[in-house]
Parts: sequence; structure tokens; C-alpha cells
Amino acid sequence: MVEQVKNYIAGRWVDSQSGERFNSINPATEEVLAFAPDSNSQDIEAAVQAAKAAFKEWRLVPAPRRGEILYRVAQILEQRKEALSSVMTQEMGKVLTEARGDVQEAIDMAYFMGGEGRRMHGYTAPVEMPNKFGMALREPVGVVGLITPWNFPVAVPSWKMLPSLVAGNAVIWKPSEETPYTAAEFVKVFEEAGLPAGVLNLVTGAGAVGGALVQHPGVRVISFTGSTETGTKVYTSAAALGKKVALEMGGKNAIIVMDDANLELAVQAITWSAYGTTGQRCTATSRLIVQRGVASQVIEALAAKAETLKVGYGIENGVEVGPLVNQKALDKVEKYVAIGRDEGARVAFGGARAEGRGYFYQPTLFADVSRDMRIAREEIFGPVLSVIAVDSLEAAIEVNNEVIYGLSSSIFTENVNAAFRAIRDLSTGIVYINHGTTGAEIQFPFGGTRGTGNGMREAGQTALDSFTEWKSIYVDYSGQLQRAQIDNRE
Ligand code: ADP
Repeated sequence: MVEQVKNYIAGRWVDSQSGERFNSINPATEEVLAFAPDSNSQDIEAAVQAAKAAFKEWRLVPAPRRGEILYRVAQILEQRKEALSSVMTQEMGKVLTEARGDVQEAIDMAYFMGGEGRRMHGYTAPVEMPNKFGMALREPVGVVGLITPWNFPVAVPSWKMLPSLVAGNAVIWKPSEETPYTAAEFVKVFEEAGLPAGVLNLVTGAGAVGGALVQHPGVRVISFTGSTETGTKVYTSAAALGKKVALEMGGKNAIIVMDDANLELAVQAITWSAYGTTGQRCTATSRLIVQRGVASQVIEALAAKAETLKVGYGIENGVEVGPLVNQKALDKVEKYVAIGRDEGARVAFGGARAEGRGYFYQPTLFADVSRDMRIAREEIFGPVLSVIAVDSLEAAIEVNNEVIYGLSSSIFTENVNAAFRAIRDLSTGIVYINHGTTGAEIQFPFGGTRGTGNGMREAGQTALDSFTEWKSIYVDYSGQLQRAQIDNRE
């Protein structure tokens, strides 16, 4: 049966005002899974009005009470984990075990941010005058707009929604057009948890409706995760309107393997970081920077491991690698594999579509890649790993740092000096030692340097920075005109 998804505005499930809709396709079967509203700027207008009205009351609900609603969200998600994971696998293709991990991140984040309802620390500091008191508090911003991708259709939105909500903001969420069904199922959890009407609004549709959200003057913050191309557009148009923007964009993450590494451990980690979620994680490994002495041994072991991976429909038991999300993603992978071949890299494994229906591509390994090739520099977002051989730790770090992105990196070494130098010198927002580039935990800041973002971070308490503003308060209980007032200080 094809699911009929609706928008969720002011606590009601409604169609788009235009009545238009689009299909959500199961990438493993190419069948239509759901219809969803193809919304436009009128729907955004309705959502902004609902959010504005709801914000007036939500900001006054004590933060511990807001946090308790998030605890309920966590509990309901725990009960719904299987059902939500199954919808996710059908809608965007990741295998069921990974979909469960995606939902689990939202559960973890809901508990963590629920706790912020009783923390959300401000601070006091000594002040210069006698009989005066100073403090700084976090305040909600108002209506926030969230634009999210399909690769973590529950986890990534949760990183944005949960801190927004506990801080007292009202939210308008525009999920990816690839995952409207999963999005609606996630929003139902908040409805059931007792979130007041209008505090969280869902508007589905393509990029243009995201653009309308960015453009709306009533939306003060935009938090975006997606491609660098789109993120840059969002940043530029939001800047013209003076909005605060948090961006999480592309990556070209690398694992470094040194001669002294535990190679068995490294090969295992590289395989899952490169081919897990079909290479479509923001933190997926797409470059292996290996010290020359062990390069051929590692390539051989990786090719042997890739051959054992079971590619197929992620809902089936034992399947390890699902399809790419859509035809466009498949075309992009094919294009880059052709580019790699033309550039002179050697296909050590894979390099072709998998047979049958669905957007499947073989896990692919490129050897003999040089650092200036396009496959070594550009984001492919598919199951393609490029191996670059280097002579030293210094060279490895230089190769890691020379791409435009800086999300995640990793080094495998048994040498503590090399590990600490890497921690210091790898120019990424996340660094792993003896672990793949994926697997971030929600209690630490998540985000990238340079072309990956704009300096903001998600997760951890730093997530609150995107969705709050500071208010500094001075209380003068001296009963006198004090020097600071006479000085005309700022
Ligand atoms: P992907 O390649 O993952 O689809 P995008 O960056 O295009 O990456 O999409 C990420 C999110 O941004 C999606 O929800 C998408 O609909 C939205 N989006 C696309 N174009 C725009 C735009 N011009 N303005 C705002 N949001 C957009």
C-alpha cells in the first residue's frame, strides 16, 4: 500500500495548499513507497504563522517541563524503533541494522537534550561596581528553520530539532524530498509525546520550499545539512537577510594507515567506514592514505573483504550494503568511476553497477591513486574508496589536509607519538585513533572545518549555540548613580 504523507502545521495533518504531491521511491525496488505534499511558499507562510503563535507560549514553558517532553519522545522512539527503522530502510535504502543505529542516535539525543532542560547553564561573573550583580542567560531565538538530507533521516533532524525545542524555539522542518514518509513518522512521535500544536511543523517538498523557508523574514535561524553546493546558496541568501546559519556540508574523509598499524583492525574499520551506508555518510571514508611499506598488503586485504560483502535490499537478513539513494546518486558514482579510470587509477575491486532492479553499485576500490586526481579530492558520496600511498606521517597529514573539506579523519598506528602528532595536526572537526571515520557520539560536538561548514557545531552542549542567543543582565542594587553610568560605557 502506498502511504499518503501529509504536512503537519499548527498541530494538524494537512495537504499542501496547492494540492500537488510527489513520490517517494524505494531505492532497492524502484517502487513508489509514499506520496507527499509538494509544498510551496504558501505552506511555509502557514507554518511560520503557526510557529510564531506557538512560540509565544512555548518560550514560557519552564525548560525542565520542555525537557520532560523530550524524555517522552525518547521513550516512544524506543517503542517505535523497529517500525521506524523499517520505514527508513524502505525509503532511503540503508540496511536495517544501520537504520536502527540512526533511530538510536535520536533516542540518545532526546535523553541528552531532555537533560539540558535542567542544565542549559548560563553564568554569573564578578562585576566592577559594589552592590551590583551580573549574569548571562541563553534565550530562544524564535522560529527556526531546519533543512535536512536523506542519509540520516531521523538522526540528523534530531540533532537540530531537540536542542531547538528544549531551548524554547518553535520549529519548521523541511526534510529531504527522498524521505518524507520517515519524516512524518518521526513527527508523530513528538505529537504523541504531547508537544503543543504549532511548536513543531513539518513541510515536505523539494529544494524550492527549502528556499522559501530561508527567504521568510519570520524565520530567524537556518540550520542546514546537505551538499556544499546547496549549503552555499542557503548561506548566501540567508546572509542577505541577516539570519544566523549553521551549515554541515561535504566531506572527503581519510583514514591514515601507518606501517606499524594493526592491519587486521584497520582493514575491518576501513571496510565499514567506506562501504557502510553505501558510502553515503557525511563521515564516510573515501580516501585511504597508506604508508608505502604496507600499501599492497592493505589493498589486497581490502579487495578480499569487499568481495565478501553482501549487497542487496537492506530489509533482508544478512545484507550488508544497500542501494544508493536514487538514480542521480548512481549516475554520479558511475561518472566518478569513469573519471578515476581515465585519470589512470587502477580498479582493485568493483567498478560496476550491481545487476537487477534498484540503484545498486558494487563496493569499489581504486589503487594507484595520486593526491591530485579528482577521485582523491572531490566528494563522490558512494561506495568508492581511493588509496593513496605516502612515505611518512608528515606526508599523510599533508594529503589529509589538502582537500577543501574537514569533517572527519583517522589514523591507525601503534605509535603514541604519531597518534598525538596526528591529533594535533589533522585539520578536521573530528579525529579518530585506531577507529574508522564514522561513529560520532551525540555528547560531543559534531562538525567540520574549512569547506565542510561555517564554524558551527551540532550535538553536545555546543548545539545550543545555534538555537539560542545570550542575554546579559545587570542588576544594580546600590541605589546610587555609579561610575559605570557616569562613564557612559557601552
Ligand atoms: P542532496 O544531494 O543530499 O539531495 P541537497 O543539498 O540538494 O543534497 O539537499 C539537502 C536539503 O536541502 C534537502 O532537504 C533539499 O530539498 C534542500 N534544498 C535543496 N535546494 C535548496 C535550496 N535552494 N534552498 C534550500 N534548501 C534546498
